[in-house]
Amino acid sequence: MKATVMYAAGDVRVEKVPDARLVEASDALVRVTHACICGSDLWPYKKMARSDVGNRMGHEFIGLVEAVGADVRTVKRGDLVVAPFAWSDGTCVFCRQGLQTSCLHGGWWGGTDLDGGQGEAVRIPQADGTLVVLPVARDHALMPSLLTLSDVMGTGHHAALAAKVGPGKSVAVVGDGAVGLCGVIAARRLGAEQIILLGRRPDRIALAKEFGATDIVTERGEEAVARVQELTDDLGAHSVLECVGLEEAVVTSLQLARAGGAVGRVGVPQDNNLAGGIPFWKNVSVGGGPAPVRAYIEELLPDVLEGHIEPGRVFDRTGPLDDVPDGYRAMNERESIKVLIEF
Ligand SMILES: [Zn+2]
Repeated sequence: MKATVMYAAGDVRVEKVPDARLVEASDALVRVTHACICGSDLWPYKKMARSDVGNRMGHEFIGLVEAVGADVRTVKRGDLVVAPFAWSDGTCVFCRQGLQTSCLHGGWWGGTDLDGGQGEAVRIPQADGTLVVLPVARDHALMPSLLTLSDVMGTGHHAALAAKVGPGKSVAVVGDGAVGLCGVIAARRLGAEQIILLGRRPDRIALAKEFGATDIVTERGEEAVARVQELTDDLGAHSVLECVGLEEAVVTSLQLARAGGAVGRVGVPQDNNLAGGIPFWKNVSVGGGPAPVRAYIEELLPDVLEGHIEPGRVFDRTGPLDDVPDGYRAMNERESIKVLIEF
C-alpha cells in the first residue's frame, strides 16, 4: 500500500510500505477514506533529524472497517469509523474518567512501529475502545466536519474546557490555526460572551468572525496584552486558549488571563520552560494537555450532524494522497490553514 513517510525536516514522501494487517485479536483493519495534515505535523517538518527508516505520518482519519480481530465487538466490516488521534482500550482507569490520551494500554499513530493516518490503510489496536462508528455514508457532505472530530475540533473543545469557558465569560484565543479556529467554535458553543482572537491572516480572521469571534487582536506580545486589557475593562480575559505551543505564546496566554482566570494549553509544547512565575503570582489555573478527543466525539457529533457547528470549514485545500508532500509545504508556508486528503 502507499503511505506518507517523513525522513527529515522538509523531506516527506508518499511511497510503498508493507500492507496494514491485523496482528492482535483486538485489532481492526481500516481502509482510509479521508485524512488530513495537522499543524503538529509541521513541527517535525521544520526540525526532524534525518532518519534512515523514517516516521509514518498522520493521526486524523476516517475510514471503512475492512476486517476485525476475533475479540472486537463494537465495530464490524463495512462500518464507517472516525479515529481519535490516540488509540485507547476504553476500559482502564484513565479511559473511564475520560482521559483516553493517558490510557494504560494505548498509544499514538505512526512513528516507526504503527501505521499512520496519511496512508491507504491502518491497523487499529484496541479497536473497541478507539473507533467510533459514524451514522452516515462516506460521501456525506459533512465529512470534513466529521473528520475534525479526530483532532482539531476535540482539541479546541478541550482547550475551552481547561480554560473554564462558560456563559458570560470573556475568552482570548491565542493562535489562528485550525485548533485556534475550532477553539472559537467551542467557546461560542459553551456560551462565552466575548471571544477575542489573536491572529493576523485576513482569511483566518474572516473565518474566526463567522465562527463567533467578537474581537480581533493583530498585535503580539506586550502589545497584544495591552490591547486585550483595553477590550476587557482592564481586567484581562477569564479564559485563555493557548493553541500554538511556542514559549512566547504560552507567556502571552498567561499574561492575558485576569486574576483568578484559567489558561487551557493545547498547543504541543516546543520548549520545556514553564513560563516564569506568572501563573503563581496571579493564582491562575493552567490546565490542558493532549486532548482526550475520544471522550468528546459522542458529545460533539450531534452538533456536527445537525449543522450547529461547521468545523470542517477549516479545510481550505483538498487533494489526493500524492499531494501530501506539497500539502505540508503549503501549510508550513501558511498558504493553507489545513489540508484534506481524499482517497
Ligand atoms: Zn485505557
